Amino acid sequence: MKLIFLGPPGAGKGTQAVGVSAHLGVPHISTGDMFRMAIKNQTPTGLEAKRYLDAGQLVPDSVTIAMVRERLGMDDCANGYLLDGFPRTVDQAIALDQISAPDTVIDIFVPDERLQSRLTGRRVCGKCQGTFHISKLDDEHTCPICGGELYQRNDDKPETIATRLQAYHEQTEPLIDYYKGNDKRRVVEENRLKTVDGDCKPEDVFKAILATLE
Ligand code: ADP
Ligand code: ZN
Repeated sequence: MKLIFLGPPGAGKGTQAVGVSAHLGVPHISTGDMFRMAIKNQTPTGLEAKRYLDAGQLVPDSVTIAMVRERLGMDDCANGYLLDGFPRTVDQAIALDQISAPDTVIDIFVPDERLQSRLTGRRVCGKCQGTFHISKLDDEHTCPICGGELYQRNDDKPETIATRLQAYHEQTEPLIDYYKGNDKRRVVEENRLKTVDGDCKPEDVFKAILATLE
Protein backbone atom coordinates (compact mmCIF):
# COMPACT_ATOMS: atom_id res chain seq x y z
CA MET A 1 0.00 0.00 0.00
CA LYS A 2 1.40 3.38 -1.05
CA LEU A 3 -0.39 6.08 0.83
CA ILE A 4 -0.18 9.85 1.17
CA PHE A 5 -1.62 12.06 3.90
CA LEU A 6 -2.45 15.51 2.62
CA GLY A 7 -3.82 18.39 4.65
CA PRO A 8 -2.86 21.72 6.21
CA PRO A 9 -0.28 22.05 9.00
CA GLY A 10 -2.03 21.05 12.21
CA ALA A 11 -4.58 18.76 10.54
CA GLY A 12 -3.28 15.79 12.52
CA LYS A 13 -1.38 14.08 9.70
CA GLY A 14 1.52 13.10 11.94
CA THR A 15 -0.66 11.74 14.75
CA GLN A 16 -2.76 9.66 12.35
CA ALA A 17 0.26 8.51 10.37
CA VAL A 18 1.77 6.82 13.43
CA GLY A 19 -1.33 4.65 13.99
CA VAL A 20 -2.15 3.97 10.36
CA SER A 21 1.42 3.01 9.37
CA ALA A 22 1.58 0.53 12.27
CA HIS A 23 -1.81 -0.87 11.24
CA LEU A 24 -0.75 -1.32 7.60
CA GLY A 25 2.83 -2.41 8.31
CA VAL A 26 4.42 0.21 6.05
CA PRO A 27 7.02 2.80 7.10
CA HIS A 28 5.83 6.25 8.18
CA ILE A 29 7.92 8.81 6.31
CA SER A 30 7.59 12.40 7.51
CA THR A 31 9.66 14.90 5.55
CA GLY A 32 9.27 17.41 8.40
CA ASP A 33 10.77 14.89 10.87
CA MET A 34 13.54 14.06 8.38
CA PHE A 35 14.42 17.74 8.02
CA ARG A 36 14.37 18.33 11.80
CA MET A 37 16.64 15.31 12.27
CA ALA A 38 18.99 16.53 9.50
CA ILE A 39 19.16 19.96 11.15
CA LYS A 40 19.92 18.43 14.55
CA ASN A 41 22.71 16.32 13.02
CA GLN A 42 23.98 19.23 10.92
CA THR A 43 24.05 17.22 7.70
CA PRO A 44 24.39 19.09 4.36
CA THR A 45 20.61 18.77 3.83
CA GLY A 46 20.01 20.08 7.34
CA LEU A 47 22.26 23.09 6.87
CA GLU A 48 20.44 23.93 3.63
CA ALA A 49 16.93 23.37 5.03
CA LYS A 50 17.21 25.20 8.36
CA ARG A 51 16.42 28.74 7.23
CA TYR A 52 13.30 27.56 5.37
CA LEU A 53 11.93 25.67 8.36
CA ASP A 54 12.64 28.60 10.67
CA ALA A 55 10.78 30.93 8.29
CA GLY A 56 7.83 28.56 7.78
CA GLN A 57 8.58 28.29 4.06
CA LEU A 58 8.90 25.20 1.92
CA VAL A 59 12.37 23.79 1.38
CA PRO A 60 13.26 23.94 -2.37
CA ASP A 61 11.91 21.02 -4.40
CA SER A 62 15.37 19.88 -5.55
CA VAL A 63 16.50 19.29 -1.95
CA THR A 64 13.24 17.72 -0.82
CA ILE A 65 12.78 15.42 -3.81
CA ALA A 66 16.38 14.15 -3.57
CA MET A 67 15.89 13.34 0.12
CA VAL A 68 12.62 11.45 -0.51
CA ARG A 69 14.00 9.61 -3.54
CA GLU A 70 16.83 8.25 -1.39
CA ARG A 71 14.45 7.29 1.42
CA LEU A 72 12.02 5.45 -0.88
CA GLY A 73 14.92 3.44 -2.27
CA MET A 74 15.53 1.79 1.11
CA ASP A 75 14.54 -1.84 1.71
CA ASP A 76 11.73 -1.14 4.17
CA CYS A 77 9.75 0.63 1.41
CA ALA A 78 9.51 -2.51 -0.72
CA ASN A 79 5.90 -3.13 0.38
CA GLY A 80 4.83 0.49 0.29
CA TYR A 81 4.96 3.63 2.37
CA LEU A 82 2.91 6.21 4.19
CA LEU A 83 4.15 9.68 3.29
CA ASP A 84 3.28 12.51 5.68
CA GLY A 85 4.16 16.04 4.54
CA PHE A 86 5.24 15.07 1.04
CA PRO A 87 4.39 16.02 -1.66
CA ARG A 88 3.64 19.66 -0.91
CA THR A 89 3.95 21.08 -4.45
CA VAL A 90 2.70 19.87 -7.82
CA ASP A 91 6.31 19.40 -8.98
CA GLN A 92 6.95 17.12 -5.99
CA ALA A 93 3.78 15.15 -6.84
CA ILE A 94 4.91 14.68 -10.44
CA ALA A 95 8.36 13.54 -9.27
CA LEU A 96 6.77 11.07 -6.83
CA ASP A 97 4.52 9.63 -9.56
CA GLN A 98 7.68 8.97 -11.55
CA ILE A 99 9.61 7.47 -8.60
CA SER A 100 6.86 5.32 -7.06
CA ALA A 101 3.25 6.43 -7.63
CA PRO A 102 0.91 6.38 -4.60
CA ASP A 103 -2.33 4.35 -4.81
CA THR A 104 -4.38 6.49 -2.46
CA VAL A 105 -4.21 10.07 -1.21
CA ILE A 106 -6.11 10.97 1.94
CA ASP A 107 -6.89 14.63 2.43
CA ILE A 108 -7.47 15.34 6.11
CA PHE A 109 -9.68 18.40 6.09
CA VAL A 110 -9.70 20.92 8.97
CA PRO A 111 -10.95 24.51 8.55
CA ASP A 112 -8.34 27.30 8.88
CA GLU A 113 -9.87 28.85 11.99
CA ARG A 114 -9.29 25.61 13.94
CA LEU A 115 -5.64 25.24 12.93
CA GLN A 116 -4.18 28.25 14.73
CA SER A 117 -4.94 26.95 18.24
CA ARG A 118 -3.98 23.40 17.30
CA LEU A 119 -0.54 24.63 16.23
CA THR A 120 0.19 27.14 19.01
CA GLY A 121 -0.80 24.49 21.60
CA ARG A 122 1.26 21.73 20.03
CA ARG A 123 4.21 20.21 21.91
CA VAL A 124 6.65 17.66 20.51
CA CYS A 125 8.65 14.98 22.32
CA GLY A 126 12.38 15.30 21.71
CA LYS A 127 12.82 11.59 22.26
CA CYS A 128 9.96 9.77 20.44
CA GLN A 129 8.75 12.68 18.19
CA GLY A 130 5.18 12.19 19.48
CA THR A 131 2.97 15.30 19.31
CA PHE A 132 0.49 16.41 21.94
CA HIS A 133 -1.83 19.35 22.57
CA ILE A 134 -1.26 21.22 25.85
CA SER A 135 -4.99 20.99 26.65
CA LYS A 136 -4.55 17.23 27.04
CA LEU A 137 -1.32 17.20 29.04
CA ASP A 138 -1.07 16.95 32.83
CA ASP A 139 2.54 18.08 32.66
CA GLU A 140 3.40 20.46 29.84
CA HIS A 141 7.06 19.42 29.84
CA THR A 142 6.97 15.62 29.94
CA CYS A 143 5.99 13.14 27.23
CA PRO A 144 3.07 10.98 28.47
CA ILE A 145 4.28 8.10 26.26
CA CYS A 146 8.03 7.85 26.86
CA GLY A 147 8.82 10.42 29.57
CA GLY A 148 11.01 12.46 27.18
CA GLU A 149 11.16 16.22 27.33
CA LEU A 150 8.49 18.13 25.38
CA TYR A 151 9.31 21.27 23.44
CA GLN A 152 7.51 23.77 21.23
CA ARG A 153 8.64 23.75 17.61
CA ASN A 154 10.25 26.98 16.42
CA ASP A 155 7.73 27.21 13.59
CA ASP A 156 4.72 26.79 15.90
CA LYS A 157 5.01 30.45 16.94
CA PRO A 158 2.10 32.65 15.76
CA GLU A 159 4.21 34.72 13.29
CA THR A 160 5.42 31.63 11.44
CA ILE A 161 2.06 29.87 11.46
CA ALA A 162 0.56 32.50 9.14
CA THR A 163 3.37 31.94 6.61
CA ARG A 164 2.89 28.17 6.77
CA LEU A 165 -0.87 28.41 6.19
CA GLN A 166 -0.23 30.71 3.24
CA ALA A 167 2.32 28.26 1.80
CA TYR A 168 -0.26 25.50 2.22
CA HIS A 169 -2.99 27.36 0.36
CA GLU A 170 -0.76 28.59 -2.43
CA GLN A 171 1.53 25.61 -3.02
CA THR A 172 -0.06 22.49 -1.53
CA GLU A 173 -3.83 22.89 -1.97
CA PRO A 174 -3.50 22.55 -5.79
CA LEU A 175 -2.55 18.92 -5.11
CA ILE A 176 -6.21 18.21 -4.35
CA ASP A 177 -7.00 18.78 -8.03
CA TYR A 178 -3.81 17.04 -9.11
CA TYR A 179 -4.81 13.84 -7.33
CA LYS A 180 -8.36 14.04 -8.64
CA GLY A 181 -6.69 13.74 -12.03
CA ASN A 182 -7.61 17.29 -13.03
CA ASP A 183 -4.16 18.79 -13.63
CA LYS A 184 -2.84 19.12 -17.19
CA ARG A 185 0.58 17.91 -16.03
CA ARG A 186 -0.78 14.74 -14.39
CA VAL A 187 1.14 11.49 -14.78
CA VAL A 188 -1.71 9.26 -13.53
CA GLU A 189 -5.27 9.67 -14.91
CA GLU A 190 -7.44 8.16 -12.20
CA ASN A 191 -8.93 9.95 -9.19
CA ARG A 192 -6.81 8.90 -6.19
CA LEU A 193 -8.18 11.44 -3.70
CA LYS A 194 -10.29 10.61 -0.64
CA THR A 195 -11.33 13.24 1.87
CA VAL A 196 -11.66 12.61 5.60
CA ASP A 197 -13.07 15.04 8.19
CA GLY A 198 -10.15 15.92 10.49
CA ASP A 199 -12.13 18.22 12.77
CA CYS A 200 -13.14 15.57 15.29
CA LYS A 201 -11.59 13.29 17.93
CA PRO A 202 -8.33 11.57 16.85
CA GLU A 203 -9.85 8.10 17.32
CA ASP A 204 -12.78 9.02 15.05
CA VAL A 205 -10.41 10.35 12.39
CA PHE A 206 -8.49 7.08 12.64
CA LYS A 207 -11.68 5.03 12.11
CA ALA A 208 -12.70 7.20 9.16
CA ILE A 209 -9.29 6.68 7.53
CA LEU A 210 -9.46 2.89 7.92
CA ALA A 211 -13.03 2.87 6.56
CA THR A 212 -11.83 4.84 3.53
CA LEU A 213 -9.07 2.32 2.88
CA GLU A 214 -11.40 -0.68 2.81
P1 ADP B 1 3.49 20.78 9.43
O1 ADP B 1 2.74 19.83 8.55
O2 ADP B 1 2.97 20.84 10.80
O3 ADP B 1 3.72 22.13 8.81
P2 ADP B 1 6.03 19.40 8.94
O4 ADP B 1 6.78 18.80 10.05
O5 ADP B 1 5.39 18.49 7.93
O6 ADP B 1 4.96 20.30 9.65
O7 ADP B 1 6.96 20.42 8.12
C1 ADP B 1 7.74 21.39 8.76
C2 ADP B 1 8.56 22.19 7.76
O8 ADP B 1 9.44 21.29 7.04
C3 ADP B 1 7.76 22.88 6.65
O9 ADP B 1 7.25 24.13 7.07
C4 ADP B 1 8.84 23.01 5.57
O10 ADP B 1 9.75 24.06 5.86
C5 ADP B 1 9.60 21.71 5.68
N1 ADP B 1 9.02 20.66 4.81
C6 ADP B 1 8.44 19.50 5.21
N2 ADP B 1 8.02 18.77 4.15
C7 ADP B 1 8.31 19.50 3.04
C8 ADP B 1 8.11 19.32 1.64
N3 ADP B 1 7.50 18.23 1.16
N4 ADP B 1 8.56 20.28 0.80
C9 ADP B 1 9.18 21.38 1.26
N5 ADP B 1 9.37 21.63 2.56
C10 ADP B 1 8.96 20.71 3.46
ZN1 ZN C 1 8.07 10.70 23.89
